[in-house]
Amino acid sequence: MVSIGRFAPSPTGDLHFGSLLAAVASYLQAKSCGGQWLVRIEDIDPPREVPGSAAGILQDLERFGMHPDREVLYQSTRTGAYELAINKLLDSGLAYWCGCSRSEIPASGIYPGTCRYGLPPGKTARSVRLRVSDKIIRFNDAIQGLVAENLAETVGDFVIKRADGVAAYQLAVVVDDAFQGITEVVRGADLLDSTARQVYLQQLMGFKTPLYAHHPVITDAKGRKLGKRYGSDPITSLSPLQVLRRALVALAQPCPALAGMDELWHWALRNWQLSRIPAVRELILNPSDSE
Ligand code: GLU
Repeated sequence: MVSIGRFAPSPTGDLHFGSLLAAVASYLQAKSCGGQWLVRIEDIDPPREVPGSAAGILQDLERFGMHPDREVLYQSTRTGAYELAINKLLDSGLAYWCGCSRSEIPASGIYPGTCRYGLPPGKTARSVRLRVSDKIIRFNDAIQGLVAENLAETVGDFVIKRADGVAAYQLAVVVDDAFQGITEVVRGADLLDSTARQVYLQQLMGFKTPLYAHHPVITDAKGRKLGKRYGSDPITSLSPLQVLRRALVALAQPCPALAGMDELWHWALRNWQLSRIPAVRELILNPSDSE
């Protein structure tokens, strides 16, 4: 079976170092074993979208020499598929309408189940929530190891259709990973906490669970994510070769002093080993490590 990986950026700004890392890791993992690498633009959240961002991200990927193997999929073209999936879950009683507003959710973030057995008097339907069961969801992350989570204890019934009518990220990502036949999801460990919800949705919808691999998110010595702070640094002020070197170092791969981008890609593809990436959620990167 051919592996199919993907990079799924949200067009909320420029490609920053944090998301570039997910692009490079997913690309190397798929292509180093002869698989395909796809790009999906997650543009279903109009309030957060920055005009021109999707085009900029795609241009940057090209600049770095990463070309998707199929046409780019835009989530904005997929609203019918999400609506269908949500209605199926509602019809089968696995999901329900909720009338609670954000201010009614306790500080723990765990939904208390107010509308679980029907809308209480005086409430009107706003969002759709998935009924979670009080059981442990397990998956074996290829980097982080075994993960076990009881959704009833960590999030409670979660939103799959938002009050503004937009399909929630958790639902859309699961529908599209299945639609695109994704067999491996390589992305930053900031999304590790979403994965049990996605695995649960896959189980309910009869989809196969892909292999998950969550690489550490890079921070500075104070624990701040480098994504934004480095936003204008490696992507724009360093050469693509320097940025790729920095990305390889951040992914714990050896990085020889090769002079050309093509040479470095070839070398990286031949020598890529996911198992070198440490099983931590955050990693401090000293920018000079790659120089
Ligand atoms: N669109 C998400 C983001 O940019 C990533 C989704 C995913 O990889 O599952 O953070």
